Formats: sequence, structure tokens, C-alpha cells
Amino acid sequence: MDYLAGESSTNQYRFRTGDQALVRQINLAVIMHHLREHAPISRAALAEMTGLNKTTVSSLVRELIDRQYVREIGFEKPQSGRGAGRLAMLLSLNPEAGYIVSMELGVDYLMAICTNFAPKTIWQYTEEIDPDMGQQVIFDRLLALLYQGLNVGSEYCQNLLGVAVGVPGLVDQTSGTLLFAPNLRWENVPLRAKLQGLIEAPLIIENEAKLAALGEHYFGAARGFNEVLYLSAGVGLGGGIVHDGQVFSGVTGFGSEFGHMTMDPDGEICNCGNRGCWETQVSQRALFAYLRRAAGQGNETVLTEMTSGNLGALTVPMVVEAAQQNDRLTLEALEVLGHHLGIGIASLVNALNPELVVFGGILSLASGYLIPVIEKEVQRRALRWNREAIKVVVASHGQEASVMGGVARIFQAVLVEPNMVAGQPAGAFPMVNA
Ligand SMILES: [Zn+2]
Repeated sequence: MDYLAGESSTNQYRFRTGDQALVRQINLAVIMHHLREHAPISRAALAEMTGLNKTTVSSLVRELIDRQYVREIGFEKPQSGRGAGRLAMLLSLNPEAGYIVSMELGVDYLMAICTNFAPKTIWQYTEEIDPDMGQQVIFDRLLALLYQGLNVGSEYCQNLLGVAVGVPGLVDQTSGTLLFAPNLRWENVPLRAKLQGLIEAPLIIENEAKLAALGEHYFGAARGFNEVLYLSAGVGLGGGIVHDGQVFSGVTGFGSEFGHMTMDPDGEICNCGNRGCWETQVSQRALFAYLRRAAGQGNETVLTEMTSGNLGALTVPMVVEAAQQNDRLTLEALEVLGHHLGIGIASLVNALNPELVVFGGILSLASGYLIPVIEKEVQRRALRWNREAIKVVVASHGQEASVMGGVARIFQAVLVEPNMVAGQPAGAFPMVNA
């Protein structure tokens, strides 16, 4: 990301007072970004890297220390071959600058984490849900988790830096309304309106896969890569694109819905209403349906025993365990799933020319079986120049990629605007047993 640096431009341009404030804010963001990438680092090294002069860097760092985003962590170690000059004080971001609560409303689970500004996870909780529980019950569970996260965080420190909620559907960015979550069967749920009154801090409502793409870019497998295709396979298939280091979302924010690309015009009906969407071929539902069908036709599988004969109770960890036991039917089912994933990924690689494909979601638990098949299909189907440029890797944060993405979004907001005042929960919350 390119930023204006004050000094390098002052010879060419005259700034009005307002502009100077803007330049200072941009320079604060530049310092924060370099600290995130390179800490521990000295003021002199920051000056060298950013092209800002040392006096400006000192002044900016002073402001960031006063705001508690940055801390001095001790003098650098003397290096051999260097004179006995003064050793520089090293700086890092301050983990205690504040806390972040990030949640994911999945189709069949709720997850919440509370992190500090390192970000290190202070608290984490996951619980299963079922869309049949109904919207109100699920929302109340989500609220209970939010309260719990806020309580844990406020015991850690004063500043709530923000709250993020990842959702499995399309979000209207202006209103924070969940417009359509096909697998939850929710439509037009005004999540921001329901939650904003509870906190006096930034509240992010965003598609879970887009958040996960950012999470992997900030803290995971895609760190250091600026052109990334992220896919998360679970109940549905979500996608995200990191382009030029930013999450791409299209003109109205609904882009990268790869799961609803038509792959088979005569295929199964998808929860979105279309027929033959990619997610009908590559979700956990497709995997389980394949296994049930094949077992129903008399094929033997250890899954029958694992589920005590009820293949309706299949889970992804069971499938992975069966694969580890070399269960022939399970390996065949994963091969078919990988094949369909690979076909779609090869097309996306041709369309987007990413440098990295990151595979996440609960099906990434089976990545050891899926990625080799995906790679084979990509090698077979993508254009040589595109396929030579990419690697397919598993998400570092697995099922937590989305909540880590929520943390990244809040983190990003603070880095870009460190003079934003951190907020607090709008009141004390009762402890709720989630
Ligand atoms: Zn669909």
C-alpha cells in the first residue's frame, strides 16, 4: 500500500492546515503498519524505512506511546563489529492497547474470541447450533457470547477497540443488514441495528469468507501475499479475494460468491434457488450425501460402525478419521470432492491469476487428502502461466480464520486511524453461561 510521506512532498506541495492533519494521520498509519510488520524496531530504523525524518518519527512515536498503541520494550542487543555507540530503544505495538471481540455466526456453529492488540487470544468459545433452532434463539445465543467476550475483555483492559461479526451470507455494508443467508434461511436481519446500541466502539458486520481472507492475509497462511484467492468449504462454500493487499468485494460488496457459480446446469437445487451451484458439489453436505448414497447401495465403510449405523450423524472429523484408516469409500468420496474443487479452482486461477490459493473451512481438516487432488486438477486445467504462478495451501487458522479476520478488520481500522478513540461497552453486562 502506498502512502504519502509528509517530508518527501513538502517541497512540491503546500498543505493547508487540514491537509497537514491528514498527512500526520497518514504518517501515523505508516508507522503503525511498519511496527506491525517489523517490530521490534528502533526509531532510526523506522525513519530509514518510511523515508520520514527522525524528528517527525520521534514526534509520531511519542503520540502513539501516549495513546498506548506503542511501547518501548528495551534496548537493542549490541552487534559484533559495531562501535560502542549508543544503543537504540526498540519499539513494538502494545498488546495491552485494547481488546477486540470477534464472532462468527456459522450455519451450524457460533464462535467467539476475545484478543488483545498483539493479537493474542484471551478467550475463545464455540458452540453448535442448528438453523432449525430458529432465528431468535440463535440470535440470543450470539448475544450471550458477545456479553461474555465483552466481560472477559473488560477485565483485561479498559479499551474496547471494536467488535466484528462474520455471517454466512450477503451483507448490506451501509446498514449492516444480513440480506440473505441461504443456508441459515435468514433474510433481511438488521444485525447492526440490533447490536450497535450495546457498544460504543466500531462494529463490523461482514461476510465470513471475506473476513477469513483478510484474517489469513493479516495473521495466517497468506501473510506477505497480496494476490490471494481464499475458499472456505463447510456447510456451504464461501470465497474471498485479496487484491493488492485489500479484500475485494465488487461494486455493492457482494462479490466473490464463488459457491454460487453454476457448475452443472442440470445439477441439484441449491439453497440460493439456483440449480447446480458449485457448493452443491463441494460442501460437506455434498460429501455426506455421496457417502450415504454409496453406503445405501451396499458399499462397506467404517463410517457405518462409527455412526452406529446412522449415517445422518456424519461429521467431518469422522470422515477424516475414516480416511486415516484407509477406508476405501471415504477416500473415494474425498477424491470426488477434491476433483470438483479442483475444476472450479482451476477456472478461478485462470480468471484471477492469484499467487496463492488458501483453502479453509471445516473441510480443510481433510486438506491432506483434498489438496493433492485439487493440485492435480489445477495442473491439468489451468493455463500454464497461471498455474505456474500459484501454490495451494491450507488456511493457518482453519475454522478460526473468520474470527481472526474480524480481529484483522478491527486491527486494520486502528492501524489506518490510530487517533481514533477506543470505546467501551455501553454498560456492564451480566455474566451469561454460554
Ligand atoms: Zn447457489
